[in-house]
Amino acid sequence: MSFKGQKVQLSGWVQKSRDLGGMTFIDLRDRYGITQLTFNLEENTDLCEEARKLGREFVIQIDGTVIERSNKNPSIPTGEIEIEVKSLTILNAAKTPPFTIEDETDGGEELRMKYRYLDLRRKVVQEKLKLRSLLAQEIRAYLANDDFLEIETPYLIKSTPEGARDFVVPSRMNEGEFYALPQSPQTFKQLLMVSGYDKYFQIVKCFRDEDLRADRQPEFTQIDCELSFVEQEDVLQTFEALMKHLFKAIKGIELNDFPRMSYDQAIKNYGSDKPDIRFGMEFHELNSRSQGHGFKVFDDAELIVGICVPKASNYSRKQLDALTDFVKRPQVGAKGLVYVKLNDDGSIKSSIDKFYTADQLQAWGEAMNAKKGDLLLIISGSENQSRSAMNELRLHMGDQLGLRPKNTFAPLWVVDFPLLEKDEETGNFHAMHHPFTSAKLEDLEQLEKDPLLVRANAYDMVINGVELGGGSIRISDRSMQNKMLNLLGFSEDEAKAQFGFLMDAFEYGAPPHGGIAFGFDRICALFGGTDSIRDYIAFPKNNAGRDVMINAPSRLDKAQLDELNLHLKAIKKGKD
Ligand code: ASP
Repeated sequence: MSFKGQKVQLSGWVQKSRDLGGMTFIDLRDRYGITQLTFNLEENTDLCEEARKLGREFVIQIDGTVIERSNKNPSIPTGEIEIEVKSLTILNAAKTPPFTIEDETDGGEELRMKYRYLDLRRKVVQEKLKLRSLLAQEIRAYLANDDFLEIETPYLIKSTPEGARDFVVPSRMNEGEFYALPQSPQTFKQLLMVSGYDKYFQIVKCFRDEDLRADRQPEFTQIDCELSFVEQEDVLQTFEALMKHLFKAIKGIELNDFPRMSYDQAIKNYGSDKPDIRFGMEFHELNSRSQGHGFKVFDDAELIVGICVPKASNYSRKQLDALTDFVKRPQVGAKGLVYVKLNDDGSIKSSIDKFYTADQLQAWGEAMNAKKGDLLLIISGSENQSRSAMNELRLHMGDQLGLRPKNTFAPLWVVDFPLLEKDEETGNFHAMHHPFTSAKLEDLEQLEKDPLLVRANAYDMVINGVELGGGSIRISDRSMQNKMLNLLGFSEDEAKAQFGFLMDAFEYGAPPHGGIAFGFDRICALFGGTDSIRDYIAFPKNNAGRDVMINAPSRLDKAQLDELNLHLKAIKKGKD
């Protein structure tokens, strides 16, 4: 209303137009919102007739006067005014878009991705990219204010193992040789510490060739950070403060101090190293109570683990069958599900009544802090399998009972990760975080005797069951780094060939250092309240790693292959 009477020029896209008697109304849209334009057939016949020809998504520019609307629309910020148009220029015509440019569009995912530039016009999508931009700016400002330097590192590098496959790029100038795209800037940020840039950060693309899920993309963005002269506690404090700041600045939420949980505790109580602690239903191990009563399934199991689902003893046969089907899905992997209902009237009903007395089952319930009206769900099998299946079931129950609301945030640090894990198939050790992670001093002597018992100075920040970031205090001395690489199966020569540059650097005055990297796309999704990180990426890839808009990846022609000295072994016909 403060613009009433002013002459204005507006440019944008035609959202929709309506002809009502002698008037034509057009909703003009741009990134900032919608403004209503009016054309009067009687007063300006030519102009109004021209307006009547405009189609959806035409790009126009108008001059006119801001007037007060007689019929106000309080639901939009410009709803009190409209523009009485004096002149109209069509800057560009538009074909009818293949789906409606509305919050609730009629376009399916595949179609919207093919025309992502149209999808990006939708307000709901724009809001997500705006949130991303806001977060990036807030993070930059916060870290810069804390003396962090933003330093770029190269994309064409040599492979850095972070547990995934590398994307590789052939080098034209160096025949037969390849660059790898960084899975993260890990070794470069460590080198920057050796160079004395004691607080580094970068909002940076990382590339990992792995199978894709809703929260994975082949290229994704990290907030990558490293500090010198720090211990684990310094890193946790620094980045807990960053996260609290972001919640306050962006969402107006004050988070309490983040609780800490050891990896062992997380696995034992939640079956996951990224527990969702918005709700309870912690695991209870029932081996000693349940074995030796003639129930073979339990007697043969390595682990019998249960959760107590509050107020769910009224679950019907059908609901319990559905839960059994859920845990038996190959992705969940349990063989079956046992239930015990602690009914409101004090009676007990279970799927294992044959093997246990009501008193025994009652005692299980007590051990699990169950109350009348609760439902016990129990899974058994090998340790790993039953824990991971129970983790899935616990989250599923959390969803079913509405215990995972999007606007509640339960952060924590998971600490004391094991340094190594064993590959069940090959028997080889892998670094649980990455090969540059240091061991806890007090566990060092175990490194020779029982390496799997050694804990690392490694930590993850987890919020609502999502691993938002992870890092470690690094090894900063040559012989230790060498030892670690040997443990991981690198020969002396291989270690030197692959990581000689880093180990050399450690001999020229490397400060103690450590850091962390956050998944920026995941932070965006968490703040935006949706599950898929794709929504927060302007041009994401689909599940097959394809960009269906530009049709990538694609074949190279022979000339280009020749120039790169590449000879392809077999090309399947019929694919383009
Ligand atoms: N480079 C690690 C990662 O991408 C993070 C870190 O250790 O700082 O997970």
